Amino acid sequence: GKPVCECHACYTGPDCAGVIQGCFIEADSGDPMFLEPFWMQHASGSTIVLAPWHRMSYDLGDGSLISKELETRIHKLHEITKNANTDGKYIVFGAGSTQLLNAAVHALSVDNDPAASRVVASTPHYPGADRILDSDNYDFNGDTYTHKNDIGNFIEFVTSPDNPDGQLRKGILEGSNVKRIHDFAYYWPHYTAIPYPTDEDLMLFTLSTLTGHGGSRFGWAIVKDKAVYEDMLKYMSLSTYGVSKETQLRALKLLDVVIATAGREMFDFGYSTMKERWGKFSKVLSMSKRISCQQFDPLRFCNYFQELKGPTPPFVWLKCEREEDVDCNAVLKLVNMIDWP
Ligand code: PMP
Repeated sequence: GKPVCECHACYTGPDCAGVIQGCFIEADSGDPMFLEPFWMQHASGSTIVLAPWHRMSYDLGDGSLISKELETRIHKLHEITKNANTDGKYIVFGAGSTQLLNAAVHALSVDNDPAASRVVASTPHYPGADRILDSDNYDFNGDTYTHKNDIGNFIEFVTSPDNPDGQLRKGILEGSNVKRIHDFAYYWPHYTAIPYPTDEDLMLFTLSTLTGHGGSRFGWAIVKDKAVYEDMLKYMSLSTYGVSKETQLRALKLLDVVIATAGREMFDFGYSTMKERWGKFSKVLSMSKRISCQQFDPLRFCNYFQELKGPTPPFVWLKCEREEDVDCNAVLKLVNMIDWP
């Protein structure tokens, strides 16, 4: 009969229920390659050619490791997107938000000693968070809710919209001994309505999820407090002596293309691609009684698009509905959807 859906390359048959041997879908982590076609269409404005003598020096000639030009673009980007208030705040560059997360934990720890603070994040959270925060250096203390009434020094890690469930989140713990790191990797118009500009003390953003260039390893922290900013700079200087100048140049050229149309071309492309994917996915999922996915936040007014928008998050948070499907991973494995080790 007529195919119900266009099958993914790993499946076959009229209802796509035939699994092609040796073909796997990775269901563990994400890679924002959906923006690759956009960059193919915008190659002329963003291609870089590097002379072999370009920026050979450790610093940028003014003792700084951070390009002022790029810093200006980042302020502009947040101003046009209306997703963060950067007025009077400091910016630190890092090799993706992963490195900045480490720098932030160090800077926010009492006496810069990560062991003196307990690091928590609300569940569900992305697999990277506990892996980073549970490394030898830190003491990851799991779910924020279990510490709601505890006393002591806490560093609360808040991801909004969250990975994997896509919900907008705020901090939960209260008190002067609680410091927060806000990961806003997905607080961009392709993934969520932008109801207000965030104005937190320490906010992390990344090129990986904004333009899709995860491989360039570029992220930035927006920091209110000067002492925290200086501690983070010190960490960056000690760990890698700043971010590669090639990466900074690449980020600059990419942001120029984004900013040239006040973000419209990239965010229109990003949003419509995500929306189309969610449309297809929801249709397929609605046919299943065995698997469901997360509930979505309601429509909100997006100050960027100036209209009501629903969430189009980058991840699906799947749930197995049958009681006997205790191991949801095993169910997915039956159809070659795998969680790489
Ligand atoms: N934060 C979250 C919540 C993420 O899911 C991701 C991508 N998996 C990142 C940050 C990106 O990290 P990085 O900037 O180091 O590429």
